[in-house]
Amino acid sequence: MTKPDKFHDECGIFGVYDHPEAANLAYLGLYALQHRGQESAGIAATDGRAFHVERAMGWVSDVFGPERLRRLPGRLAIGHVRYSTAGSSTLRNAQPIHATFARAPIALAHNGNLVNAASLREELEGTGAIFQSTSDSEVILHLLARSDRQTLERALPHALGRVTGAYSLVILTPDTLVGCRDPHGFRPLVVGRLRGTWLLASETCALDLLEAEYVRDVEPGEIVIIDRGGLRSLKPFPPRRLLQCVFEYIYFARPDSTLWGQNVYHVRKALGHRLAEEHPAEADVVVPVPDSGLGAALGFAERSGIPFDLGLIRNHYVGRTFIEPRQGIRHFGVRVKLNPMRETLDGRRVVVVDDSIVRGTTSRKIVKMIRSAGARAVHVRISSPPIQWPCYYGIDTPTRKELIASSHRVEEIRRYLGADSVGYLSLDGMLKAAGGDESRFCHACFTGAYQVGFPREETAQLALFGD
Ligand code: SF4
Repeated sequence: MTKPDKFHDECGIFGVYDHPEAANLAYLGLYALQHRGQESAGIAATDGRAFHVERAMGWVSDVFGPERLRRLPGRLAIGHVRYSTAGSSTLRNAQPIHATFARAPIALAHNGNLVNAASLREELEGTGAIFQSTSDSEVILHLLARSDRQTLERALPHALGRVTGAYSLVILTPDTLVGCRDPHGFRPLVVGRLRGTWLLASETCALDLLEAEYVRDVEPGEIVIIDRGGLRSLKPFPPRRLLQCVFEYIYFARPDSTLWGQNVYHVRKALGHRLAEEHPAEADVVVPVPDSGLGAALGFAERSGIPFDLGLIRNHYVGRTFIEPRQGIRHFGVRVKLNPMRETLDGRRVVVVDDSIVRGTTSRKIVKMIRSAGARAVHVRISSPPIQWPCYYGIDTPTRKELIASSHRVEEIRRYLGADSVGYLSLDGMLKAAGGDESRFCHACFTGAYQVGFPREETAQLALFGD
Protein backbone atom coordinates (compact mmCIF):
# COMPACT_ATOMS: atom_id res chain seq x y z
CA MET A 1 0.00 0.00 0.00
CA THR A 2 1.31 3.47 -0.80
CA LYS A 3 2.17 5.59 2.25
CA PRO A 4 -0.22 8.52 2.59
CA ASP A 5 1.52 11.80 1.79
CA LYS A 6 -0.96 14.06 3.57
CA PHE A 7 -1.76 14.92 7.13
CA HIS A 8 -4.86 12.93 7.89
CA ASP A 9 -8.14 14.14 9.16
CA GLU A 10 -8.92 13.00 12.61
CA CYS A 11 -12.56 12.17 13.20
CA GLY A 12 -16.04 13.47 12.56
CA ILE A 13 -18.84 13.45 15.13
CA PHE A 14 -22.57 13.97 14.96
CA GLY A 15 -25.47 14.01 17.45
CA VAL A 16 -29.27 13.97 17.20
CA TYR A 17 -31.75 14.85 19.94
CA ASP A 18 -35.39 13.94 19.50
CA HIS A 19 -36.22 12.66 16.05
CA PRO A 20 -38.18 9.47 15.19
CA GLU A 21 -35.43 8.53 12.74
CA ALA A 22 -32.43 9.64 14.79
CA ALA A 23 -30.10 6.91 13.49
CA ASN A 24 -31.00 7.70 9.88
CA LEU A 25 -30.17 11.36 10.47
CA ALA A 26 -26.88 10.36 12.12
CA TYR A 27 -26.11 8.18 9.11
CA LEU A 28 -26.68 11.11 6.74
CA GLY A 29 -24.68 13.45 8.95
CA LEU A 30 -21.76 11.02 8.98
CA TYR A 31 -22.02 10.72 5.21
CA ALA A 32 -21.33 14.46 4.95
CA LEU A 33 -18.41 14.08 7.39
CA GLN A 34 -16.80 11.13 5.63
CA HIS A 35 -13.79 13.25 4.63
CA ARG A 36 -12.85 13.45 8.35
CA GLY A 37 -12.28 9.71 8.69
CA GLN A 38 -12.59 6.66 6.48
CA GLU A 39 -11.42 3.76 8.61
CA SER A 40 -14.46 3.06 10.73
CA ALA A 41 -17.97 4.34 11.27
CA GLY A 42 -20.41 3.88 14.13
CA ILE A 43 -23.74 4.99 15.52
CA ALA A 44 -25.20 4.61 19.03
CA ALA A 45 -28.94 5.16 19.46
CA THR A 46 -31.32 5.00 22.39
CA ASP A 47 -35.05 4.73 22.82
CA GLY A 48 -34.78 5.97 26.40
CA ARG A 49 -34.26 2.50 27.84
CA ALA A 50 -31.80 0.32 25.93
CA PHE A 51 -28.71 1.44 24.03
CA HIS A 52 -28.00 0.05 20.58
CA VAL A 53 -24.55 0.43 19.07
CA GLU A 54 -23.38 -0.54 15.59
CA ARG A 55 -19.76 -0.04 14.55
CA ALA A 56 -17.61 -1.49 11.81
CA MET A 57 -14.50 -0.86 9.77
CA GLY A 58 -15.07 0.88 6.45
CA TRP A 59 -16.82 3.85 4.90
CA VAL A 60 -20.22 5.03 6.14
CA SER A 61 -22.05 3.74 3.06
CA ASP A 62 -20.40 0.30 3.41
CA VAL A 63 -21.04 0.00 7.13
CA PHE A 64 -24.67 1.15 7.23
CA GLY A 65 -27.29 -0.51 5.07
CA PRO A 66 -31.04 -0.50 5.81
CA GLU A 67 -30.71 -3.68 7.87
CA ARG A 68 -28.13 -2.22 10.26
CA LEU A 69 -29.97 1.08 10.59
CA ARG A 70 -33.12 -0.82 11.58
CA ARG A 71 -31.18 -2.18 14.54
CA LEU A 72 -30.78 1.37 15.86
CA PRO A 73 -34.24 2.44 17.09
CA GLY A 74 -34.82 5.52 19.22
CA ARG A 75 -35.15 9.28 19.12
CA LEU A 76 -31.57 10.05 20.23
CA ALA A 77 -28.35 9.08 18.47
CA ILE A 78 -24.67 9.94 18.13
CA GLY A 79 -22.30 8.94 15.34
CA HIS A 80 -18.61 8.88 14.59
CA VAL A 81 -16.28 8.43 11.64
CA ARG A 82 -12.71 7.67 12.48
CA TYR A 83 -9.26 7.82 11.07
CA SER A 84 -7.01 6.24 13.65
CA THR A 85 -5.01 8.77 15.63
CA ALA A 86 -4.37 7.54 19.17
CA GLY A 87 -4.82 3.78 19.35
CA SER A 88 -4.39 1.47 16.39
CA SER A 89 -6.82 0.97 13.57
CA THR A 90 -9.01 -1.88 14.76
CA LEU A 91 -12.70 -2.41 15.39
CA ARG A 92 -11.98 -2.30 19.13
CA ASN A 93 -11.08 1.35 18.74
CA ALA A 94 -14.06 2.26 16.55
CA GLN A 95 -16.54 4.66 18.17
CA PRO A 96 -18.99 5.51 19.68
CA ILE A 97 -17.75 3.75 22.79
CA HIS A 98 -20.27 2.92 25.49
CA ALA A 99 -20.54 1.56 28.99
CA THR A 100 -23.15 1.06 31.66
CA PHE A 101 -22.46 2.84 34.92
CA ALA A 102 -24.27 2.81 38.22
CA ARG A 103 -26.07 6.00 37.20
CA ALA A 104 -27.01 5.09 33.60
CA PRO A 105 -25.63 3.83 30.33
CA ILE A 106 -23.57 6.32 28.39
CA ALA A 107 -22.06 6.48 24.89
CA LEU A 108 -19.38 8.86 23.70
CA ALA A 109 -17.75 9.92 20.43
CA HIS A 110 -14.54 11.95 20.41
CA ASN A 111 -12.72 14.10 17.87
CA GLY A 112 -9.22 15.06 18.97
CA ASN A 113 -6.42 13.61 21.03
CA LEU A 114 -5.65 13.86 24.74
CA VAL A 115 -2.02 14.59 25.50
CA ASN A 116 -2.19 13.23 29.07
CA ALA A 117 -4.14 10.06 28.21
CA ALA A 118 -1.22 7.71 28.89
CA SER A 119 -0.59 8.92 32.44
CA LEU A 120 -4.31 9.01 33.27
CA ARG A 121 -4.72 5.53 31.91
CA GLU A 122 -1.87 4.24 34.03
CA GLU A 123 -3.40 5.87 37.08
CA LEU A 124 -6.87 4.46 36.33
CA GLU A 125 -5.53 0.96 35.64
CA GLY A 126 -3.62 1.17 38.89
CA THR A 127 -6.93 1.56 40.68
CA GLY A 128 -8.62 -1.33 38.90
CA ALA A 129 -10.05 0.14 35.69
CA ILE A 130 -10.20 -2.32 32.81
CA PHE A 131 -9.88 -0.79 29.37
CA GLN A 132 -11.59 -2.30 26.34
CA SER A 133 -9.58 -0.42 23.74
CA THR A 134 -6.30 1.42 23.22
CA SER A 135 -8.16 4.60 22.31
CA ASP A 136 -7.55 7.65 24.50
CA SER A 137 -11.27 8.49 24.41
CA GLU A 138 -11.97 5.63 26.80
CA VAL A 139 -10.09 7.53 29.50
CA ILE A 140 -12.90 10.11 29.54
CA LEU A 141 -15.48 7.36 29.97
CA HIS A 142 -13.60 5.91 32.94
CA LEU A 143 -13.15 9.32 34.54
CA LEU A 144 -16.89 9.86 34.21
CA ALA A 145 -17.62 6.46 35.71
CA ARG A 146 -15.42 7.22 38.70
CA SER A 147 -16.63 10.72 39.36
CA ASP A 148 -18.35 10.97 42.74
CA ARG A 149 -20.65 13.72 41.41
CA GLN A 150 -24.21 12.52 41.16
CA THR A 151 -25.42 14.09 37.92
CA LEU A 152 -23.83 14.15 34.48
CA GLU A 153 -23.96 17.92 34.65
CA ARG A 154 -21.59 17.78 37.63
CA ALA A 155 -19.57 14.72 36.69
CA LEU A 156 -18.61 16.01 33.24
CA PRO A 157 -16.76 19.18 34.29
CA HIS A 158 -15.11 17.12 37.03
CA ALA A 159 -13.90 14.47 34.55
CA LEU A 160 -12.96 16.89 31.78
CA GLY A 161 -11.08 19.04 34.27
CA ARG A 162 -8.52 16.22 34.46
CA VAL A 163 -7.84 15.80 30.76
CA THR A 164 -5.51 17.93 28.68
CA GLY A 165 -5.42 18.24 24.92
CA ALA A 166 -7.90 18.38 22.09
CA TYR A 167 -11.46 17.18 22.38
CA SER A 168 -14.75 17.86 20.76
CA LEU A 169 -17.24 15.34 22.17
CA VAL A 170 -20.80 14.18 21.70
CA ILE A 171 -22.19 12.17 24.61
CA LEU A 172 -25.44 10.26 24.84
CA THR A 173 -27.43 9.11 27.86
CA PRO A 174 -30.95 7.62 27.69
CA ASP A 175 -32.52 11.07 27.77
CA THR A 176 -29.76 13.62 27.09
CA LEU A 177 -27.43 14.68 24.31
CA VAL A 178 -24.29 16.55 25.34
CA GLY A 179 -21.68 18.40 23.27
CA CYS A 180 -18.34 19.77 24.54
CA ARG A 181 -15.28 21.52 23.16
CA ASP A 182 -11.99 21.70 25.02
CA PRO A 183 -11.07 25.10 26.47
CA HIS A 184 -8.56 25.79 23.67
CA GLY A 185 -11.12 24.99 20.96
CA PHE A 186 -8.77 22.84 18.86
CA ARG A 187 -11.52 21.03 16.95
CA PRO A 188 -14.82 22.43 15.70
CA LEU A 189 -18.35 21.55 16.87
CA VAL A 190 -21.58 23.28 15.88
CA VAL A 191 -25.21 23.24 17.02
CA GLY A 192 -27.99 22.89 14.45
CA ARG A 193 -31.75 22.67 14.41
CA LEU A 194 -34.06 20.69 12.15
CA ARG A 195 -37.50 21.92 13.16
CA GLY A 196 -37.94 20.47 16.69
CA THR A 197 -34.77 18.36 16.54
CA TRP A 198 -31.40 19.46 17.94
CA LEU A 199 -28.24 18.47 16.07
CA LEU A 200 -24.53 18.59 16.88
CA ALA A 201 -21.95 18.24 14.11
CA SER A 202 -18.23 18.63 13.51
CA GLU A 203 -18.93 20.79 10.47
CA THR A 204 -21.81 22.76 9.02
CA CYS A 205 -21.74 20.73 5.77
CA ALA A 206 -23.46 17.94 7.75
CA LEU A 207 -26.29 20.34 8.68
CA ASP A 208 -26.60 21.47 5.06
CA LEU A 209 -27.11 17.91 3.86
CA LEU A 210 -30.11 17.62 6.19
CA GLU A 211 -31.33 21.11 5.26
CA ALA A 212 -31.00 21.96 8.93
CA GLU A 213 -30.37 25.42 10.29
CA TYR A 214 -26.98 26.36 11.78
CA VAL A 215 -27.64 27.77 15.24
CA ARG A 216 -24.14 28.51 16.59
CA ASP A 217 -20.74 27.08 17.42
CA VAL A 218 -20.20 25.27 20.70
CA GLU A 219 -17.72 27.66 22.27
CA PRO A 220 -14.27 26.63 23.48
CA GLY A 221 -14.61 25.26 27.01
CA GLU A 222 -18.41 25.07 26.74
CA ILE A 223 -20.61 22.09 27.56
CA VAL A 224 -24.07 22.13 25.96
CA ILE A 225 -26.67 19.88 27.52
CA ILE A 226 -29.75 19.12 25.45
CA ASP A 227 -32.74 17.47 27.09
CA ARG A 228 -36.49 17.96 27.50
CA GLY A 229 -35.85 21.42 28.89
CA GLY A 230 -34.05 22.51 25.68
CA LEU A 231 -30.39 23.52 25.42
CA ARG A 232 -28.43 24.60 28.49
CA SER A 233 -24.90 25.92 28.44
CA LEU A 234 -22.23 25.30 31.08
CA LYS A 235 -18.92 27.12 31.11
CA PRO A 236 -17.12 25.44 33.97
CA PHE A 237 -13.52 26.14 32.92
CA PRO A 238 -11.52 29.36 33.13
CA PRO A 239 -10.86 30.88 29.68
CA ARG A 240 -7.71 29.61 27.99
CA ARG A 241 -5.69 30.74 25.03
CA LEU A 242 -7.51 29.93 21.77
CA LEU A 243 -5.75 27.22 19.77
CA GLN A 244 -8.11 26.46 16.91
CA CYS A 245 -6.39 24.18 14.41
CA VAL A 246 -5.43 26.35 11.45
CA PHE A 247 -5.02 23.20 9.37
CA GLU A 248 -8.80 22.80 9.40
CA TYR A 249 -8.89 25.80 7.06
CA ILE A 250 -5.93 24.67 4.98
CA TYR A 251 -6.99 21.10 4.29
CA PHE A 252 -9.16 19.13 6.73
CA ALA A 253 -12.55 20.82 6.63
CA ARG A 254 -14.84 20.57 3.65
CA PRO A 255 -14.74 23.72 1.50
CA ASP A 256 -18.50 24.24 1.79
CA SER A 257 -18.39 24.32 5.60
CA THR A 258 -18.50 27.51 7.63
CA LEU A 259 -15.81 27.18 10.24
CA TRP A 260 -15.35 29.61 13.12
CA GLY A 261 -17.33 32.23 11.28
CA GLN A 262 -15.81 31.90 7.82
CA ASN A 263 -16.50 29.81 4.74
CA VAL A 264 -13.60 27.40 4.26
CA TYR A 265 -13.45 27.75 0.47
CA HIS A 266 -13.15 31.52 0.76
CA VAL A 267 -10.35 31.20 3.30
CA ARG A 268 -8.55 28.87 0.87
CA LYS A 269 -8.90 31.48 -1.87
CA ALA A 270 -7.53 34.12 0.49
CA LEU A 271 -4.55 31.83 1.18
CA GLY A 272 -4.01 31.73 -2.60
CA HIS A 273 -4.19 35.54 -2.83
CA ARG A 274 -1.47 35.90 -0.19
CA LEU A 275 0.62 33.18 -1.83
CA ALA A 276 0.52 35.05 -5.17
CA GLU A 277 1.61 38.26 -3.41
CA GLU A 278 4.44 36.57 -1.51
CA HIS A 279 5.68 34.27 -4.28
CA PRO A 280 4.80 35.59 -7.74
CA ALA A 281 5.86 33.54 -10.78
CA GLU A 282 6.37 34.17 -14.48
CA ALA A 283 3.94 31.63 -15.86
CA ASP A 284 1.22 30.93 -18.44
CA VAL A 285 -1.19 28.85 -16.39
CA VAL A 286 -2.12 28.09 -12.76
CA VAL A 287 -3.21 24.50 -12.08
CA PRO A 288 -4.40 23.01 -8.77
CA VAL A 289 -3.43 19.66 -7.34
CA PRO A 290 -6.99 18.33 -7.10
CA ASP A 291 -8.83 18.55 -4.85
CA SER A 292 -6.64 19.87 -2.03
CA GLY A 293 -5.11 22.78 -3.96
CA LEU A 294 -8.26 23.95 -5.73
CA GLY A 295 -9.31 26.95 -3.62
CA ALA A 296 -5.76 28.27 -3.21
CA ALA A 297 -5.05 27.87 -6.94
CA LEU A 298 -8.16 29.88 -7.81
CA GLY A 299 -7.02 32.56 -5.38
CA PHE A 300 -3.50 32.55 -6.83
CA ALA A 301 -4.85 32.91 -10.38
CA GLU A 302 -7.24 35.68 -9.33
CA ARG A 303 -4.52 37.74 -7.66
CA SER A 304 -1.73 37.09 -10.19
CA GLY A 305 -3.85 37.50 -13.32
CA ILE A 306 -2.42 34.22 -14.68
CA PRO A 307 -5.22 32.06 -16.19
CA PHE A 308 -6.53 29.17 -14.11
CA ASP A 309 -7.01 25.79 -15.76
CA LEU A 310 -7.26 22.12 -14.87
CA GLY A 311 -4.04 20.34 -15.69
CA LEU A 312 -4.36 17.29 -13.45
CA ILE A 313 -7.50 15.18 -13.32
CA ARG A 314 -8.25 13.11 -10.25
CA ASN A 315 -9.71 9.65 -10.38
CA HIS A 316 -12.23 9.86 -7.55
CA TYR A 317 -12.85 6.14 -7.41
CA VAL A 318 -9.51 5.01 -5.99
CA GLY A 319 -10.08 3.37 -2.61
CA ARG A 320 -7.75 3.99 0.28
CA THR A 321 -6.51 0.43 0.04
CA PHE A 322 -5.04 0.77 -3.45
CA ILE A 323 -2.11 -1.64 -3.64
CA GLU A 324 0.69 -1.22 -6.13
CA PRO A 325 0.64 -4.26 -8.43
CA ARG A 326 4.26 -5.21 -7.87
CA GLN A 327 6.74 -4.05 -5.30
CA GLY A 328 9.36 -3.33 -7.96
CA ILE A 329 7.12 -1.04 -10.01
CA ARG A 330 7.23 2.43 -8.49
CA HIS A 331 5.35 5.63 -9.26
CA PHE A 332 2.08 4.02 -10.29
CA GLY A 333 0.32 5.13 -7.09
CA VAL A 334 0.10 8.79 -7.99
CA ARG A 335 -0.59 7.98 -11.65
CA VAL A 336 -3.62 5.93 -10.65
CA LYS A 337 -5.01 8.90 -8.74
CA LEU A 338 -3.97 11.74 -11.05
CA ASN A 339 -3.65 12.10 -14.81
CA PRO A 340 -1.93 15.11 -16.43
CA MET A 341 -3.63 16.85 -19.36
CA ARG A 342 -1.17 17.52 -22.16
CA GLU A 343 -3.65 19.99 -23.72
CA THR A 344 -3.25 22.29 -20.70
CA LEU A 345 0.42 21.72 -19.91
CA ASP A 346 2.34 21.21 -23.17
CA GLY A 347 4.77 24.06 -23.89
CA ARG A 348 3.47 26.13 -20.94
CA ARG A 349 5.11 27.58 -17.85
CA VAL A 350 3.02 26.08 -15.07
CA VAL A 351 2.29 27.18 -11.49
CA VAL A 352 1.06 24.11 -9.61
CA VAL A 353 -0.66 24.86 -6.29
CA ASP A 354 -1.18 22.49 -3.36
CA ASP A 355 -2.15 23.00 0.27
CA SER A 356 0.90 21.40 1.91
CA ILE A 357 3.93 19.15 1.49
CA VAL A 358 4.35 16.33 4.00
CA ARG A 359 6.97 13.80 2.86
CA GLY A 360 7.45 15.34 -0.58
CA THR A 361 7.18 12.05 -2.44
CA THR A 362 3.82 12.85 -4.05
CA SER A 363 4.80 16.42 -4.97
CA ARG A 364 7.93 15.08 -6.64
CA LYS A 365 5.88 12.67 -8.76
CA ILE A 366 3.45 15.44 -9.66
CA VAL A 367 6.25 17.72 -10.86
CA LYS A 368 7.65 14.88 -12.96
CA MET A 369 4.21 14.15 -14.35
CA ILE A 370 3.65 17.79 -15.35
CA ARG A 371 7.03 17.91 -17.07
CA SER A 372 6.32 14.66 -18.89
CA ALA A 373 3.18 16.31 -20.30
CA GLY A 374 5.40 18.92 -21.96
CA ALA A 375 5.54 21.80 -19.43
CA ARG A 376 8.44 24.22 -20.04
CA ALA A 377 8.68 25.22 -16.39
CA VAL A 378 7.07 24.03 -13.13
CA HIS A 379 6.69 26.44 -10.21
CA VAL A 380 5.40 24.78 -7.02
CA ARG A 381 3.37 27.00 -4.70
CA ILE A 382 2.14 25.82 -1.29
CA SER A 383 -0.65 27.59 0.59
CA SER A 384 0.83 26.92 4.06
CA PRO A 385 4.32 27.19 5.63
CA PRO A 386 6.73 24.21 5.67
CA ILE A 387 5.44 21.45 7.99
CA GLN A 388 8.27 20.64 10.36
CA TRP A 389 6.59 19.09 13.37
CA PRO A 390 4.12 16.30 14.09
CA CYS A 391 0.69 17.04 15.54
CA TYR A 392 -0.27 15.73 18.97
CA TYR A 393 -3.81 17.07 18.89
CA GLY A 394 -5.73 14.52 16.89
CA ILE A 395 -4.13 14.47 13.46
CA ASP A 396 -2.37 11.47 12.02
CA THR A 397 1.09 12.69 11.07
CA PRO A 398 4.30 10.91 10.13
CA THR A 399 7.30 11.10 12.45
CA ARG A 400 9.40 14.24 12.41
CA LYS A 401 12.17 12.74 10.34
CA GLU A 402 9.67 11.79 7.61
CA LEU A 403 8.57 15.42 7.21
CA ILE A 404 10.74 16.74 4.42
CA ALA A 405 10.78 20.31 5.72
CA SER A 406 12.07 19.26 9.14
CA SER A 407 15.48 18.49 7.70
CA HIS A 408 15.62 20.33 4.34
CA ARG A 409 15.72 23.98 3.41
CA VAL A 410 13.40 25.29 0.68
CA GLU A 411 16.17 25.23 -1.94
CA GLU A 412 16.91 21.57 -1.09
CA ILE A 413 13.23 20.76 -1.35
CA ARG A 414 13.11 22.47 -4.76
CA ARG A 415 15.96 20.29 -5.96
CA TYR A 416 14.33 17.14 -4.57
CA LEU A 417 11.03 17.96 -6.26
CA GLY A 418 12.75 18.83 -9.55
CA ALA A 419 10.84 22.13 -9.73
CA ASP A 420 12.00 25.45 -11.20
CA SER A 421 10.92 27.23 -8.03
CA VAL A 422 9.14 26.47 -4.75
CA GLY A 423 7.28 29.03 -2.66
CA TYR A 424 5.61 28.41 0.70
CA LEU A 425 3.16 30.84 2.25
CA SER A 426 4.59 32.57 5.35
CA LEU A 427 3.20 31.92 8.84
CA ASP A 428 1.98 35.49 9.07
CA GLY A 429 0.38 35.29 5.62
CA MET A 430 -1.39 32.07 6.53
CA LEU A 431 -2.74 33.39 9.84
CA LYS A 432 -3.92 36.65 8.26
CA ALA A 433 -5.64 34.82 5.39
CA ALA A 434 -7.35 32.66 8.01
CA GLY A 435 -8.74 35.87 9.48
CA GLY A 436 -6.67 36.01 12.64
CA ASP A 437 -3.28 36.01 14.23
CA GLU A 438 -1.25 34.01 16.74
CA SER A 439 -3.88 34.61 19.40
CA ARG A 440 -6.53 32.50 17.64
CA PHE A 441 -4.82 29.50 16.16
CA CYS A 442 -2.63 26.51 16.84
CA HIS A 443 0.25 26.38 14.36
CA ALA A 444 2.54 23.92 16.17
CA CYS A 445 3.11 21.67 13.14
CA PHE A 446 4.71 24.66 11.39
CA THR A 447 6.55 26.22 14.30
CA GLY A 448 7.01 23.54 17.00
CA ALA A 449 5.30 25.97 19.42
CA TYR A 450 3.26 23.37 21.28
CA GLN A 451 1.20 25.30 23.78
CA VAL A 452 -0.45 22.31 25.42
CA GLY A 453 1.08 19.19 26.88
CA PHE A 454 4.73 20.00 26.30
CA PRO A 455 6.69 22.16 28.70
CA ARG A 456 9.21 24.46 27.10
CA GLU A 457 12.20 22.22 27.92
CA GLU A 458 10.51 19.21 26.40
CA THR A 459 9.82 21.14 23.21
CA ALA A 460 13.47 22.11 23.10
CA GLN A 461 14.39 18.42 23.48
CA LEU A 462 12.09 17.58 20.60
CA ALA A 463 13.76 20.27 18.53
CA LEU A 464 17.17 18.78 19.25
CA PHE A 465 16.45 15.14 18.80
CA GLY A 466 13.32 14.79 16.68
CA ASP A 467 10.81 12.23 17.90
S1 SF4 B 1 -0.29 20.97 15.25
FE1 SF4 B 1 -1.04 21.59 13.21
S2 SF4 B 1 -2.52 20.00 12.64
FE2 SF4 B 1 -2.18 19.82 14.86
S3 SF4 B 1 -3.77 21.07 15.83
FE3 SF4 B 1 -1.98 22.38 15.59
S4 SF4 B 1 -2.29 23.39 13.57
FE4 SF4 B 1 -3.66 21.64 13.66
